Amino acid sequence: MSIIIDRVSKQFGSFQALQNINLTIPNGKLVALLGPSGSGKSTLLRVIAGLEAPDTGSVHINEQDSTYVDVRQRNIGFVFQHYALFKHFTIRQNIAFGLEIRKEPRSLIHKRVSELLDLVQLAGLGDRYPAQLSGGQRQRVALARALAVQPKVLLLDEPFGALDAQVRKELRSWLRRLHDEVHVTSVFVTHDQEEAMEVADEIVIMNQGRIEQVGTPAQVYDHPATPFVMSFVGPVNVLRPTAHVLQTWQLPDRADQIFIRPQDLKIHTTPQPDSIPATLDRLIHLGWEVQVEMTLPDGHTVLGHLTRSELAHLDLSTNQTVFLTSHKAMTFQGHSAALSFPSPILPTAI
Ligand code: ADP
Ligand code: MG
Repeated sequence: MSIIIDRVSKQFGSFQALQNINLTIPNGKLVALLGPSGSGKSTLLRVIAGLEAPDTGSVHINEQDSTYVDVRQRNIGFVFQHYALFKHFTIRQNIAFGLEIRKEPRSLIHKRVSELLDLVQLAGLGDRYPAQLSGGQRQRVALARALAVQPKVLLLDEPFGALDAQVRKELRSWLRRLHDEVHVTSVFVTHDQEEAMEVADEIVIMNQGRIEQVGTPAQVYDHPATPFVMSFVGPVNVLRPTAHVLQTWQLPDRADQIFIRPQDLKIHTTPQPDSIPATLDRLIHLGWEVQVEMTLPDGHTVLGHLTRSELAHLDLSTNQTVFLTSHKAMTFQGHSAALSFPSPILPTAI
């Protein structure tokens, strides 16, 4: 069941929460809406759900105009951050809820609930009450309950947001595996880029009510369409475009800023034809990798990353002069990006 969002805008008072959103969510895919708090992710999800009507534009679900179809008729499953399980119902009763409302036969309900308990790996816990489960287990019950009525679309709004980091990590890989089994078209809201990267087939990056870019995790990371995307999906150095740096790294001379990821800075101990000098300030050991803090001649601080074996080869010490090369520095003009090195796929502006 594909979802097509066409020119959707939504205003709250004078605040523009969504501005001309165009987006196609392909059938059977898991798509993440990623962006900072207040960027309009939940509003867009609520428009898809029918909990919020757009001011302009339309939402088509499975080729049907659903813009004004009531939320109850849309056959959508929801999972929210705060598990809204019924406290006085057992886990089985919670999962069965939607099926009971539909007055499905007892035997069918029993069979379906057992299958779902298996699917979310909670077989054996069906007779417990929500208070007797951990937070992660409760979110799995919420997911089973949402899936029970065989929704056409599954919408998840920061479903793991209230859980601690370790449980979140476990649940995100679990969700990915679950989606590979059930293949229901799913939209997953998160402000955590790592979570989006790990879980989603495609990522929609939102900022101030607009879509900045749509792409696979690799596309948005390697070929960001805008400075916002570049900075949001991973750590980045932003350098001032001095004539020397622009020339040495063969960047367009109209650039306002130069963007470069720490791991894309290559550190040398001797000058190279295309290197710029820097002073090494500090080496910070972070397990398998080492963060390198450096200062450029213009006083700007930059970060580099080395593996331990790279560090061992280089034999670096603080205050020494190092030489930086990079084939992956990027600049952006308007909304299109330029790489300092010919790139096979150029990012497309949305
Ligand atoms: P996100 O989920 O990305 O954090 P939201 O979609 O919840 O963002 O909200 C986007 C903006 O719209 C926020 O600034 C929020 O305050 C505003 N907003 C959302 N819902 C309402 C509402 N019902 N009334 C007024 N403002 C709202
Ligand atoms: Mg939200």
